[in-house]
This record gives sequence, C-alpha cells and structure tokens, in this order.
Amino acid sequence: MPWRKPKNCPYCNEPMEPGRVRATDGAGIFYLPDSEDDPHLWIKRSIEKRNGIILDGPYMIRTSCTVSCYACRKCRQLLISY
Ligand SMILES: [Zn+2]
Repeated sequence: MPWRKPKNCPYCNEPMEPGRVRATDGAGIFYLPDSEDDPHLWIKRSIEKRNGIILDGPYMIRTSCTVSCYACRKCRQLLISY
C-alpha cells in the first residue's frame, strides 16, 4: 500500500492505524443516509438519487471491493475519506 499521511483520532487524538475495509463478492461499498431505503439495483444512478456516496464500485460483476481508512482501536472508530 502507498504511504499515507498519518492521522490522529478525532475522539482521543492518538495516532490512527492506516488500513482498509474490504468486501468480497459485492457490487461495491456505498454510504446511504439512514433516511433512505436501499435501492432495488445498486447502480450509480440509484445510489446518487438517494443522496448516497460511492466508495468503491458499483461493479456489474460481483468482485472484491476496497476502501482505504484509518482505525483507532482504542475508540473502535474507522475514519473513511472519499
Ligand atoms: Zn481514538
């Protein structure tokens, strides 16, 4: 993995650990507001219509999906940039 600028935890201010969230056999990794239901199809238009954020994908063929993040094990928090 390429070097990434260190980040400190926004809760405890300790250094965070760079890492990744990974899913296999998926269409991608997406954020949706709690106010929105899941789309019938996980396609770009459906996700964006629901004010969602695409972190990886969407892929037509189910594949491995990855998004970079930082972890604070003490606070049990993941920080994901997009
Ligand atoms: Zn922390």
